[in-house]
Amino acid sequence: MSSPEQSIHTYHCICTQLVLASTSTLESLKTRSSDLSQILPLPDLSSTSTISHYASLTNTVVDIKPTVIRLEDGFEKRYFHKCGRCDLNIAYSLDQSQFEDTRTSSGAREDVAFLIPGGLMSTEDMKSGKDMDAEIAKVGVKAA
Ligand SMILES: [Zn+2]
Repeated sequence: MSSPEQSIHTYHCICTQLVLASTSTLESLKTRSSDLSQILPLPDLSSTSTISHYASLTNTVVDIKPTVIRLEDGFEKRYFHKCGRCDLNIAYSLDQSQFEDTRTSSGAREDVAFLIPGGLMSTEDMKSGKDMDAEIAKVGVKAA
């Protein structure tokens, strides 16, 4: 089942819903300078070529209509990816018209998403959070 070369990192919404699986860690992703979101390439999974990076947003609902965001130097159209459980915006796609090579098209660009800072936690973090609660409980028992 699991490939020995690549491990999958999983990330959760702050409500604990699993929302992202990727071979890349969030720390390894490039950061968008304008809003510090992390740039997540989304590979075409139907492609037969070897994929070195895998990522998939899961349990999310993507806006059908874009939200226009006002920036210092203009506007941009964002399609928010919301957590399917708590409705929090965890990522967004940009409109195809925002990119040089698809300037005359519209609709969400599907090969890249931008992760909103602070919206996700890794499964490891979530587990260690639980362990910490257990530790606190233990200490509490000892102190009593
Ligand atoms: Zn959530």
